[in-house]
Formats: sequence, structure tokens, C-alpha cells
Amino acid sequence: MNGYGDRLLRVDLSIGKISKETISDSMKSDFLGGRGFAVKILWDEVKNVDPLSDKNKLIFAVGPLSGQLLPSAGKMVVASKSPLTGGYGDGNIGTMASVHLKKAGYDAVVLEGKSPKPCYVLIEDENIQILDASDLWGKNSFEAQDLLEKKHGKNSGVLLIGPGGENLIRFATVMSQKGRAGGRPGMGAVMGSKNVKALVIKGTGNVSNFDDARLRDLGKKGYDEIKGKENYEFWMKQGTMQAFEWSNENGCLPTYNFREGVFEFSKEMDGYVVEKLHAGRKGCPMCNMQCGHIIKDASDQQAELDYENIGMLGPNIGIRSLPQAGTLNRLADEWGLDTISLGSSIGFLMEASEKGLIPEKVPWGDFEWAQKLIVEIGKGEGLGKLVSQGVKAAAEKIGKGSEKWAMHVKGLEASAYNCHACPGMALAFGTCSIGAHHKDAWIIAWEIATDRFSYDKRKVEKLIEFQRVRGGFFESATVCRLPWVEVSFGLHWYPVYLEAITGEKRSWEDLYQMGDRVLNLIRAYWKREVPSFGRKWDYPPDRWFEEPQSEGKVKGMKVDREKYEQMLSWYYELRGWDQNGIPTRETLENLGLKEVAREIG
Ligand code: SF4
Repeated sequence: MNGYGDRLLRVDLSIGKISKETISDSMKSDFLGGRGFAVKILWDEVKNVDPLSDKNKLIFAVGPLSGQLLPSAGKMVVASKSPLTGGYGDGNIGTMASVHLKKAGYDAVVLEGKSPKPCYVLIEDENIQILDASDLWGKNSFEAQDLLEKKHGKNSGVLLIGPGGENLIRFATVMSQKGRAGGRPGMGAVMGSKNVKALVIKGTGNVSNFDDARLRDLGKKGYDEIKGKENYEFWMKQGTMQAFEWSNENGCLPTYNFREGVFEFSKEMDGYVVEKLHAGRKGCPMCNMQCGHIIKDASDQQAELDYENIGMLGPNIGIRSLPQAGTLNRLADEWGLDTISLGSSIGFLMEASEKGLIPEKVPWGDFEWAQKLIVEIGKGEGLGKLVSQGVKAAAEKIGKGSEKWAMHVKGLEASAYNCHACPGMALAFGTCSIGAHHKDAWIIAWEIATDRFSYDKRKVEKLIEFQRVRGGFFESATVCRLPWVEVSFGLHWYPVYLEAITGEKRSWEDLYQMGDRVLNLIRAYWKREVPSFGRKWDYPPDRWFEEPQSEGKVKGMKVDREKYEQMLSWYYELRGWDQNGIPTRETLENLGLKEVAREIG
């Protein structure tokens, strides 16, 4: 099919076997690419295995839009059975590796088995090699990126792990280009468990699109439209950090381990401070909305900021200085640790210390402690060992009610939105397909702008609409959602792009159905892999139900548990799932997943 390489590259690391397989037409039309390919491969091939064993597989997948000269299309998906949650795990990463993989003519790479010694995989079009990485092992992700670029040239796509992944820290990510990260639920740990330090990809071919000239023209029009948008100029000044002030004003800024939603020092680190300290910008390939803002950090080095990492490594742990939060973020990237889970883990330890549940005194906002903890977490040593499997496991260890303020869903730490007074966003976290992440549905802006405090069915319908577009389509296409979310880039462009790429007309209705197929298969995967999976896995942390915030304009508010139950029940009904949250046979069969229905029976 046009727009695809039509091939899957399989690398068995245990025996050094490399094979290339054809991707079927039905796979492409039913699952599109990216996340869709990843979950289909996991469903078919990774069943009841320990996520850190050689039986697990790590999948890198692109979609028909990836790597094309289209707005923000430099993304790929990395997915596996998650060592953090035990269920489906993935993330998207903006990287030159997506462009090179397309040019090399592959839609997916599957790493399986385990290399007997540290290695990296070199993909140069048809030439695939498993190479020794003993000189790279132990290097941080920035150092290793430099070494690999020195060896293979700057014009290569590099995906790699830091020491966090090598040490099997369960929220280690896959890194690229000193600052791009993906795979929050431990995809870096899976890579480390296979003794793979990096993938280096160099593709020189061309993607065979249905109508290249039209695609170029449509792409140019898309870039121009984005540049002409009302919010574009402001976006370029602040990027995602524009959300910092908004979040604080609305009582949603994660503060002191999500206990509060406003931070008394927010003015010292919001988007306007970013503007003042601005020292450059970074981002993903193919994007004219580059959202990584560079500042000089507290160690006089360059650090890249965005809202999530500054929210979690700033107010959430009581840090009140943007350069200090920048340093923590850079350290996290060097170690290859997910910044959101890391901020949640440090916040958890600081709260445990405050409550006297651990002997160490770890004060809120202590920059020295925060740096020390990142290193300890990256090594899985000292106090860091307690949270190196995530806050869910840490709370299970220390008990004493700490599970109520271990801020996660399904074992994945919540990203940077306090939901005491945002029931729709709480449900978005509760039902996101990898745990408490905002990527499937960032409903919070819509919710606050419309009927914030309601628990009505319309909100649930809106949530499902967002999940279809973001979690279903964007993740499978594979393309960044931010042009649509942040500058209102029209959704009508995407079916038109797809048609110019593949030659096939697909309406949004078709794409919604494809998205539902992907999301239902992910749900079925959870059911199959996690014996206790069901309704009780779809709740946000108790803190948001039980402990109201003490400050700000939503002071005194918390999520109403009974009304949340009602929303969750509507959600299941609208999705065609039973009241335990499991897709019904009819729903799966309607999506063409008859075999899946039989298996989860
Ligand atoms: S908007 Fe930001 S995250 Fe999205 S593609 Fe551009 S640089 Fe990457």
C-alpha cells in the first residue's frame, strides 16, 4: 500500500537472527500504524510473560503520516508490555529516527529475546547489524548520543536509553536527541532488560506516496495555516509552559504531591519567566511549532523545559526556581527517567518524610536532595530504591495509608494536572489506556472553559471523542496532537493527508472506528494480562476524592465519588463495555475482533 514500507523488521537478540516480514493490507487498514500496529503485535505475540524477561518484545512503529513533510509528523511509537503497570504500555517520541525508519522502508521494528551482552542495533536500509555496545553501557543518554553520532554521523536517527533503563528502573524511557523522550511506562527498562543500548537508523530511500506533488502542496498549506493562527506567536514564546499560569489560576497545578493546585511561587517560574530566560528552542522533526524551550539551568548548562516536566519537578516537589527545575529535568533526561513519574516519586518521598513514614528528612523544595534522589533512583539505590518501581509499589511497601496519596492510575503516575475540581479530567486519567496520562484525552481545557463542575453525560461523550482522535488516530497515524490542541489546526486536514499518502479515502467516521478498534484491543490486552483487571482499575487516586485543596479558587472542592461512579458507568455503556469495564463480545465482534472476544471470553 502507498505510504508504507510494507515491512516489519524483526531482530532476535538472543540468537542474532534478523528477518524482514511483509505487513498485510488488513493490518494497515484495520490498525493504521504506530500504536495500532504495536498493540496488534503485542496481542498476537506477547502473552502472559514477565515484562522484564526475554519473552517480552519491544516495538518501534511508525504510521503513514510519520516522517512525511507534514505538520509535526516526526513521531513514532515505542510500546511493550509494561514493567511498571503489568499491562499495555507505550509512548510517542519525536525523533529523526522516525524519518529514517520510513526512508529505510520499515513500518515497525520488533526487538525480541535478549542479547548476551550490551549491544546496539544499526539499521542502514537493508544492512542490519547487532553491534557491541560495551563502550556505551553506563554512559548517560547525552554522552551516548554524542558517541553514536560521532561513529555514524549526525545525520542518523538515534533511539537510546540512559543508565535508568540499564538499571531496569520501571519508569525509564527511551530517549532521543538529548531531550526527546517516550514510553513512560518503562519502555526504557524493557530495552535495558534486552541489553540494548540504542537503535541507530539511517534510511536513504523514498516513501512511495500515492500523490507526492499533492502531498507537498497540502503540507505547505498546513504549515502556512499553523503560522497564521492567532495563538501561534504566543505559543512560540512560551510553548506548553503557557499552561503554567493558567493551571495555577484554575487550581490545577500539581503542588506538594498534588495536595494543592496553586503554588505560592508560581510567578517565579511561569511562561513569562521562560520568555525572560529564553536561550533557544528545540523540538521534533517536521514541526514548525518547536515547543522545547531552552534556558541556562542552575548548573549553567542548557536545559529544555515543558509544562509537564516543570510542573512535576517544580511545584509538585516544592521547587520554586525555573533554573533549578531545569537542572532536574536535564538530569532526568541524562539518566533516561520519565520526568512525570520521577516528580511524582520525589513528591511521594517528600510527603512520606513529612509524615514521618521514612527516617530520612527530605524537605519540600530541597534542591540538593532532589538531585541526589534522581541519581539514587537512576541507580535503584538508597532511598531511590523505594520508588524505583513507581509510587504504587512504594506505597504497598510502606503502607500506613500512603496508598491514598500515591498519585497513580493502574500503576502509572499522574501527569501534571490536579483534578480535585476537574471530574472529567479525573475520568480521563482513570480510563486512559496506559494509566494516568493525559495523552489519550486532555479534556481539562474544554472542561474548565465549559461546565467545569458538572458530572453530566455530555462530558463523558466528549471524553470519548477526544480519546478517539488523540489515543486512537494521532497515536496510530503517527503524528503530534499539539497543532490541533494548541493552535486549532483543523482536523479536516488529516483524512486529506491520508488520501494523498495512501490513495484511499477515509472519513473521520472510519478513523474513529479504527481508533475504537485500537483502544478496545488495548483494553482486551489489559484483561488478558492482568488477572484482577476490571472496574477498580479505572479510578483516580483517593486524594482527589477525600482531601480537598486548602487554597485557590477551588478551595474546599474534591471529586464526588458517587457521581464519578455514575460517569464511569456511562463511559462503559457508551464504549460498549460491561459494568466491570470489559468490552462485550458484541462490541469486539462489531470491530472485527472476533478472535479477541473468544480469547477474553
Ligand atoms: S509541537 Fe512540540 S511535541 Fe509536537 S511535534 Fe512539535 S516540537 Fe514535537
